[in-house]
Amino acid sequence: QADKELINNSIRDVKDFPKEGIVFKDITTLLNNKVAFQTLMNHLEERYKSYDLDYVAGIDSRGFIFGAALADRLNIGFVPVRKKGKLPSTTVCEKYELEYGFDEVEIHLDAFPIDNARVLLIDDLIATGGTANASAKLIKDVKANLVETCFLINLTFLNGVKRLEEHAPVYTIIDI
Ligand code: 5GP
Repeated sequence: QADKELINNSIRDVKDFPKEGIVFKDITTLLNNKVAFQTLMNHLEERYKSYDLDYVAGIDSRGFIFGAALADRLNIGFVPVRKKGKLPSTTVCEKYELEYGFDEVEIHLDAFPIDNARVLLIDDLIATGGTANASAKLIKDVKANLVETCFLINLTFLNGVKRLEEHAPVYTIIDI
């Protein structure tokens, strides 16, 4: 609990970003705070070391930071889920709805080179759950086993977790 407070206090609110009326949760102030960053990574390592995971998959782009650091701690591989058009080899993609229009995420078809790979999906924040839902589908599309999804911050009033729970268990650290 003290850890969660330390982590929470290291996250900064930025008003009117990316547009007016939105309060953006800025995690760069967590990353440049070595105590807060290490506390978070210790917490994640402690939770996931007994999960017998094969890969951590991180969502573009802040999910790469926490996901890659965690994969290294757990001594396993890291897989990026990217916004469309960034991955060089053969991909599978999923479209999802935004407030205005659509976006797409994709993953390499051969991202998980072992059968039934046990995968944790991670991102910094879940809002509507649209991005995470599409990413969870991708992991299933390529026949991996999505063991859990993990978010540093959950904007609870947008109910993203409820949607995502249809795909996999959801673990969040800071609920706002
Ligand atoms: P969703 O698809 O759940 O509506 O939005 C979540 C995605 O948008 C995540 O990839 C997350 O990084 C990004 N995002 C949305 N709002 C914020 C915010 O306030 N702070 C940060 N750090 N990311 C956000």
